Amino acid sequence: MLYIDGTWQSAESGDTFLVRNPATGETIGEVASAAERDTERAIAAAQAAFPQWAKLTAKERYGYLKRVAEILRGRTEQLAEVITREMGKPLAEAKGEIGLAIDYLDWYGEEAKRIYGDTIPASAPDKRIIVTRQPIGVVGAITPWNFPIAMITRKLAPALAAGCTVVLKPASATPLTAIEVFKAIDEAGVPKGVANLVHGKPAATVGPMMNSPIVRKITFTGSTEIGKELYRQAADTLKKVSLELGGHAPFIVFADADLERAAAGAIASKFRNAGQTCVCTNRIYVQQEVVEPFSRIMAEKMKQLKVGNGLEAGVNIGPLINRQALEKAREHVEDAVQKGATIICGGHVLDSGEFANGYFFAPTVLAHATHEMKIAREETFGPVAPIFSFSTEEEAIRLANDTAYGLASYVFTRDGSRMFRVAEALEYGIVGINDPMPTVAQAPFGGVKESGIGREGGKYGIEDYLEYKFLSFQLEM
Ligand code: NAP
Repeated sequence: MLYIDGTWQSAESGDTFLVRNPATGETIGEVASAAERDTERAIAAAQAAFPQWAKLTAKERYGYLKRVAEILRGRTEQLAEVITREMGKPLAEAKGEIGLAIDYLDWYGEEAKRIYGDTIPASAPDKRIIVTRQPIGVVGAITPWNFPIAMITRKLAPALAAGCTVVLKPASATPLTAIEVFKAIDEAGVPKGVANLVHGKPAATVGPMMNSPIVRKITFTGSTEIGKELYRQAADTLKKVSLELGGHAPFIVFADADLERAAAGAIASKFRNAGQTCVCTNRIYVQQEVVEPFSRIMAEKMKQLKVGNGLEAGVNIGPLINRQALEKAREHVEDAVQKGATIICGGHVLDSGEFANGYFFAPTVLAHATHEMKIAREETFGPVAPIFSFSTEEEAIRLANDTAYGLASYVFTRDGSRMFRVAEALEYGIVGINDPMPTVAQAPFGGVKESGIGREGGKYGIEDYLEYKFLSFQLEM
């Protein structure tokens, strides 16, 4: 169902689409497929709701966000199952994602109270300058399937906290999770029209948002290819745009690092969500003298990973999202092997027995990777970890920066000066220093170069939903 102007409804056309479980191939839902007219109604509802919502006090908006957070918190178990069935990640990861999603609601509910302005010394004795902040207006939000709940609240929470109203289009692979979030919004009593949900084909959902002069901001998380296209389309109505796009994270291990910790970190960063996160390690660079022990420790730890249906206890790696994703992982491995890589473990599709109807790929580690391989350039978005070697700090930095992407990067070393030197030289928006999991609600998440524009999270994330207004007063003296 679509959620428009505070009511659940079918698409005007009556069209629907099916949702499938990537672990089993089963159909698990059928949802409305919005037509352009549905999206236009959602935009109109958001426009009508905007003046009243923007006028609420910060404490009132905080109250709504807090209620949504509480409802979701109380449903963690049920929601985790929806996420696992819909996109495959293991239940424990789904619960972790729900925790992060709630953190955004909690944090931005509080942040609504801290939208401050400025007073500025004037240039004349009879003048006064005040700068205020106002919500930008109606926001169009577009989210991916790999974090089907956290990517939604990472946009909704700051937008609503700032006083904006929203039309959200989730990925077509994961509309059921989005529906659960909007049920919580509805039950929390958020006024009608403030948050609207449309799902279906991009042309009928995102298309009207891009064309509408009413939508003043687009916030998109997804691939670099689509992000660039939306950036171009936004020019016609000069919308403010924030883009959280693809990544190609380097993971640098220096010889002085704690190798046990580094190998555990590389596995956590690479194989979380079966390798389908934008901050997943895509290239592991290990200093020459420790390549052999590091690879051995990693191979040993890989034996503990269990692949399977994420609903089953003990499974750490679920299926990939679809056949295309499976093909990409296979293509990256085949290309790497052809160009001289060797397989330490995995390297193949799993398609028999319990895996027969899903999209499973064996967790893979490759040795002797080089920058001539596809895996060094293209986002793999699958459970394949290539190990490259380097000799000096300069070489590690040069190789790590040799990509069009610039989202997350990781450095493992015990040398304090090196931590700063390398972190400052890396052309990335995020650097995890001996830390494979840096994402939290209060810090700025986002990339440079072709990984995007803008930041989500923390005090920085609300900026994109606000405009400055300069008030100049001339007084009678
Ligand atoms: P995607 O194919 O770009 O899709 C993202 C969203 O855009 C979905 O809602 C999708 O709708 C919609 N979309 C697809 N084609 C469109 C078009 N022509 N015009 C307008 N909208 C369109 O990306 P994805 O496969 O879902 O997600 C994986 C990508 O997201 C990876 O590159 C990953 O790195 C990136 N990502 C980035 C971050 C970050 O914060 N930087 C976080 C998570 C993921 P449909 O589902 O209906 O096609």
